[in-house]
Amino acid sequence: MPTTLIKNADWVIAWDEKANRQVYRRGVDLAFTGDCVDFIGAAYSGTADRVIDGAGLMVIPGLIDIHSHPHHEPLYRGIREEHGVANMHMTGLYERGQAFSAPDDEGRAASAEFAYCELLLCGVTSLVDISAPFDGWIELFARSGLRGFLAPGYASARWFLENDLGPSYDWNEPRGRAGFATALRVIDAALAHPCGRLSGVVSPMQIDTCSEDLLRDSRAAAIDRGLPFTTHCSQSVNEVREMIRRHGMTPIQWAHRLGLLGPGTILGHALFLDTHSWVRWHTKDDLRLLGASGTAVAHCPTPFARYGQVMEHFGDYLRAGAVMGLGTDCSPHNLVEEMRKASVLARIAARDIHAVDVADFLHAATAGGATALLRDDIGRLAPGKKADLVLVDLTCPQMQPPRDPLRSFVYHAADRAVRDVFVDGVQVVADRRVLTMDQADAARRLAAAQERMEAAAPQHDYLRRKAEEITPLSLPVSD
Ligand SMILES: [Zn+2]
Repeated sequence: MPTTLIKNADWVIAWDEKANRQVYRRGVDLAFTGDCVDFIGAAYSGTADRVIDGAGLMVIPGLIDIHSHPHHEPLYRGIREEHGVANMHMTGLYERGQAFSAPDDEGRAASAEFAYCELLLCGVTSLVDISAPFDGWIELFARSGLRGFLAPGYASARWFLENDLGPSYDWNEPRGRAGFATALRVIDAALAHPCGRLSGVVSPMQIDTCSEDLLRDSRAAAIDRGLPFTTHCSQSVNEVREMIRRHGMTPIQWAHRLGLLGPGTILGHALFLDTHSWVRWHTKDDLRLLGASGTAVAHCPTPFARYGQVMEHFGDYLRAGAVMGLGTDCSPHNLVEEMRKASVLARIAARDIHAVDVADFLHAATAGGATALLRDDIGRLAPGKKADLVLVDLTCPQMQPPRDPLRSFVYHAADRAVRDVFVDGVQVVADRRVLTMDQADAARRLAAAQERMEAAAPQHDYLRRKAEEITPLSLPVSD
């Protein structure tokens, strides 16, 4: 197996096992052989097949994105950024999901390929992809070069709108059961893929669209197989109110009652807790339940911030003991920008600059995400860990001066400084170009698919509106 040596890197963000945290190392060599890091330190004495000059570089662990929907979110570019329904507590989730529903398989593939490119270009190396399965998904993922945690979604019920006050539920348990069986088959196929980088997450889609039995059986199947489990939970005020109406308790308390919480469970997005100012339910249990059980939260600030909503707040979740990870729920798929946004929003919510710091978000985007996925071999650069790593260009203008290069990266440069990316020891981005896929070609297919999706909107929208009536352009088109 070939050995690659990064010689005398100016900075390396390495894993300190004893301190259980990421630390800076300066002026060190980093060597990896095959898919595995075998040395970080002064003066590597072994031989190497390839030597990369580490001057002007910071080496960081590949980032871990624990919540994404690549098969449709890029299709919403230009559509969803300012779309929301005031009578649904600002969320546009239900209206948009119905009006712009079910892209065809060609559209899904174009959308996913485009998103995978965005993710690699910002330094993501591991991805939880929550998608409705489509033909060619596993092969496309394998080709991307990413480390994949495929999360085929399924549900007992579908949302539909009768008015603008919130979703109604079309229940069909056999459909949910069939989806569950398909999901396990897809996960098994991913695990068996010869690339060796694919795994799965058991993913009943939403706490409010899955029956109690389906949720319990899904969690049991995940535990049986040693796989993570994920579901959307406490993601909208409508959902919280619906669960209180059904069960007399919040979605988090209901998840606890069903035995869904605990290590290996990832809740997207656990934002509207009982203590949240938009909910203000009389109990004060949700955060304690998350923390005491070691449940993970996939925090994706962007879609909520666009509605005017923030987590309250990230620092309190951390201190309660929740396993905090980050995700890119929507476009742009830029996990570094999510780190930046999450840090600023947490301080606004806390009204305290010391509520969080950039190290908290690096941890969430690396080791925290790995813990959420029950993995200790990714998100960390140390001998014996996977060779998933990113070379950050310190000479990029937005990195200058690189006094504290993690701050330069998160608060200033983001993806502009990501030069090269390796997953499993294989280079997938070189000099800011994805080697495994063709983003420009995917973009052309994506635009065509978006046109088809918009043209079909009046058939799906509950008011039979055209796409431009649901989400007008941001400026009038002048003659
Ligand atoms: Zn989501």
